[in-house]
Amino acid sequence: MANFKIAVMEGDGIGPEIVAEGLKVLEEIALKFNHTFEYEKVYVGGCAIDKFGEPLPQSEVDKILKCDALFFGAVGGPKWDNLPQEKKPETGLLGIRKALGAFANLRPAKVFDELIDASTLKPEVIKGIDILVVRELTGGIYFGKPKGIFEENGEKKGLNTMVYYEYEVRRIVKLAFELAMQRRKKLTSVDKANVLDVSQFWRDIVNDVAKDYPDVEYNHILVDNAAMQLVRDPKQFDVIVTGNIFGDILSDEASMLTGSIGMLASASVGGDVGMFEPIHGSAPDIVGLGIANPIAQIESAAMMLKYGFKLDKEAEAIENAIDLVLKMGYRTPDIMSEGKKKVNTIQMGDLIAKAIGDVI
Ligand code: NAD
Repeated sequence: MANFKIAVMEGDGIGPEIVAEGLKVLEEIALKFNHTFEYEKVYVGGCAIDKFGEPLPQSEVDKILKCDALFFGAVGGPKWDNLPQEKKPETGLLGIRKALGAFANLRPAKVFDELIDASTLKPEVIKGIDILVVRELTGGIYFGKPKGIFEENGEKKGLNTMVYYEYEVRRIVKLAFELAMQRRKKLTSVDKANVLDVSQFWRDIVNDVAKDYPDVEYNHILVDNAAMQLVRDPKQFDVIVTGNIFGDILSDEASMLTGSIGMLASASVGGDVGMFEPIHGSAPDIVGLGIANPIAQIESAAMMLKYGFKLDKEAEAIENAIDLVLKMGYRTPDIMSEGKKKVNTIQMGDLIAKAIGDVI
């Protein structure tokens, strides 16, 4: 029996609708596995602007840092689009990721057999893929200095700098090897070592860290080849580890192999408190209609249990419950196809919560 305190950030748009379903499933897990989850409601983004006048009040950061994990819905919407950059909901999102010190972003891309037709790729290419992209989140070219737009000899120039310190590379690579050990023991490190010194530096560190993980089969590939291989033969990958900018692009590419944005979750970990959220936004176009797909949020709950609390069996129960409900033919409108049974957000949450009892 475990006891965890979870900061719950419903957020904007469809956030409250899908978070409610995530919590429903978590409560079912608590009941079935005899755990206690305590929830602390927090505000980030548009809802924080409405309540406190700013997207990330310090009071909310303090509350989150006292919890074991942050279960996050989504932020943003047209209501706040015209605010200055520093007041926008998305600034709250970047701010909280930074405040948590999460240096690793984990993005699984897994194909549900039942939804294989939702992908733009051929079924035989994507059937059975199960990839985890591990992206370095707090270093690299997005943060390196010098940066900016300067004038030099009457000519303007734009500049960003890709910088990695050894400790930054070591900790993300080590985490990726650890994750590979828990999976199929295969790791691919992606870089651009044929051109970039910083990539050669990254590659050398991977080779060094690998010595501690003799059971993991690993290789290096160049980022351009990685982009190509992901659509050519994605099944060759298990864990992919890479820097910030390459990871940004490849994680989007990998997740779209599966075809549906309403199904995918991500975790930002490495700091004291992990953050678990869907990859999609607040979907203002469908807010209040009751048709949002809650599965990405429910997957975020599974990631929180697995990577945040090390409750592997419980996480697996959620995964299997989702699988079962899809096999039974239930679909929210975004993943609906002929001959299937259309359900709304709440019904999908109820079905998955109920299925937990059937899969354990
Ligand atoms: P979006 O992901 O919110 O929506 C894109 C499309 O996917 C929309 O048609 C939407 O209806 C659909 N969609 C998304 N989630 C769905 C779900 N669970 N079920 C069914 N359909 C779903 O992206 P957007 O429209 O570009 O952005 C909307 C707002 O969300 C913006 O303010 C943006 O800044 C914000 N945003 C927030 C996050 C976040 O909180 N992490 C991420 C991306 C975008």
